[in-house]
Amino acid sequence: MPELPEVETIRRDLAPRIVGRTVVEAWVSPDAPRLVQSETADSFCHRLTGHTIKEVDRRGKYLLLRLDGGFTWIVHLRMTGGLIHARGGCSSGFLRARFRLDDGSELCYADMRKLGTMWLVEDESAVVGKLGPEPLGEAFTPGELRGLLARRSAPVKAVLMDQRAVAGIGNIYADEALFEAGIRPQKAARRVSRKAAERLHGAMRQVLVEALGDRGSSFRDYVDADGEQGTHQLRVKVFRRTGEPCYVCGTAIRRVKVGGRSTHYCPKCQR
Ligand SMILES: [Zn+2]
Repeated sequence: MPELPEVETIRRDLAPRIVGRTVVEAWVSPDAPRLVQSETADSFCHRLTGHTIKEVDRRGKYLLLRLDGGFTWIVHLRMTGGLIHARGGCSSGFLRARFRLDDGSELCYADMRKLGTMWLVEDESAVVGKLGPEPLGEAFTPGELRGLLARRSAPVKAVLMDQRAVAGIGNIYADEALFEAGIRPQKAARRVSRKAAERLHGAMRQVLVEALGDRGSSFRDYVDADGEQGTHQLRVKVFRRTGEPCYVCGTAIRRVKVGGRSTHYCPKCQR
């Protein structure tokens, strides 16, 4: 699933190309009935057409395309969604929606598993209002992380992945950040020491910034706004490295389930 670095890569690619452009035609495939939220696809396409994109923003794993007239077009890619900007037409076999812009280019929404969702809203908070802080934002301090861990008895990994606690982190970067910080994913959040929480704060930022530099991780489906893969999957330390030697100590990386999700860690480096 695209996480913060992947969605942010798409945002950065799209912004200079689509800001100032007007949607002149919108189409949603009838085989993607759950793509558009809280209204029919027809109504969504009708309301979207004619609006100009003023800004491309991101909150957690959500893309926010702010339009003239006070509307925001919100996109969540979920598991296999991708938003590709194309000048020669959309080519994916899993095309679920297409948006033609006034310069002749198109935004192509492809989604194999059809779990992605879109909204057109006046009040963004109806969709993204409950999200926790941005982990790369200035307001997210070590003290804030310590505070939110201290209130929770769930495994620390589950808290990192809880979008209401911190926005934008999923399975890949939770595992990687916990490895960098030397913390066991299963450990109860409230038992993470003050020092360890501070390490984790730095580790979260480090792994997210490194992944952004690599234009995201493409383990399976993720592609950027040009349909190209990221490269951070080549640099992960624990994620999906089950049985392979830890780069620090040589111990075999272990896989367990935490909060129902496959979780990878080094039993020696992470305590
Ligand atoms: Zn190790």
